[in-house]
Amino acid sequence: MTFDFHTHSFFSDGVLSPIELIRRAHVAGYRAIAVTDHVGLANIEQVIREVSRDCLLAEKHWGIKALPGVELTHIPAAAIGECAKLAKKCGAKVVVVHGETPVEPVEPGTNRAALMSSYVDILAHPGFITTEEAQIAVVNQIYLEITARGGHSLTNGHVAKVGLAVGAKLIVNSDSHSPDNLMKAGFAAKVAQGAGIPVEFLESVLVNHPLELLKRFEA
Ligand SMILES: [Zn+2]
Ligand SMILES: [Zn+2]
Repeated sequence: MTFDFHTHSFFSDGVLSPIELIRRAHVAGYRAIAVTDHVGLANIEQVIREVSRDCLLAEKHWGIKALPGVELTHIPAAAIGECAKLAKKCGAKVVVVHGETPVEPVEPGTNRAALMSSYVDILAHPGFITTEEAQIAVVNQIYLEITARGGHSLTNGHVAKVGLAVGAKLIVNSDSHSPDNLMKAGFAAKVAQGAGIPVEFLESVLVNHPLELLKRFEA
């Protein structure tokens, strides 16, 4: 049973259409997938509108939970709050923010701005997140991502250590851009364990937190 709240279709830099991405996730045994393409103010509305159609279609015919979302990416930190609010208003179920990964010039302050917004659900690949930032994630119930994606994953161990120390909720996502990036059964557990998450936390990270998020998106 795999959950994945961070993937990309060709509405940004993924290679598959939303419906093919969802189809392949369904066949790979996914229980839920969010399609969260890179957006800025320019394309928030359009992407959510288009992706929502395929999510509805997939849910109707295949029974997989398919959620339209966005990944707010390289947006000025000061504008993240308003963009997150707009995304929810346009119908995004899942709002992911492209955090301060060590491999891209994300504006410093992005992690903090994301964690201060009540419209953000997941802070993706937050790089060298600070303890103070992780504490804000706890208070505002924002999930911190442990990523399966190469490059961004360099700081998984740091994110896990800082997050677990303050009781932040961690979640594993694939950040898929192509079909081979989708997680096979058991792979999310390897990513979690590779990040140093102790065995006793695995069920929370791999099952309980995704189920909590699904409940939030149904509300
Ligand atoms: Zn990202
Ligand atoms: Zn991404």
